[in-house]
Formats: sequence, C-alpha cells, structure tokens
Amino acid sequence: MVTDYSLLPDESPGAAAVRCYMECRSCGVCGVMGEDALDGAEWAASHLERHPDHLAYREHVTRPYRFLPGEVSS
Ligand SMILES: [Zn+2]
Repeated sequence: MVTDYSLLPDESPGAAAVRCYMECRSCGVCGVMGEDALDGAEWAASHLERHPDHLAYREHVTRPYRFLPGEVSS
C-alpha cells in the first residue's frame, strides 16, 4: 500500500522561520528581512515617504514546507 503525503507549511519546532521582505519596483531597493508581512508594509510606507513616486512593490516570502504522511482533510 502506498502512503499518501500532503505538502504542508512546516510549522514544526525545528523548522526554519518564515522570512519576508519587500522590494521597491521603481528603484530595486529591498527592505529589511522580517518574519511578518507587516514589517515589509511598514518599510514600504516609509520608503514611499522618502520617494513619493515609488508606488509599486513586490513581496518576497520564504516559507518552509514539509511532506507529511496522510491526506489533507477538508
Ligand atoms: Zn524605491
């Protein structure tokens, strides 16, 4: 019998933390790396204060995943 696996965000104690940062699409400058999307939003807001014409941003997120035995119940 084949075991089914489900790919899920790895939230086990030893898993790497979620990391995210924001990049300005106008000038390519990146904000500080944080564990919360709110950090990136605050950086973008302060960047916009200094550069009022920099309106477009890209969020970069690194999130660990792990295959776990069993199917996802829905
Ligand atoms: Zn910029």
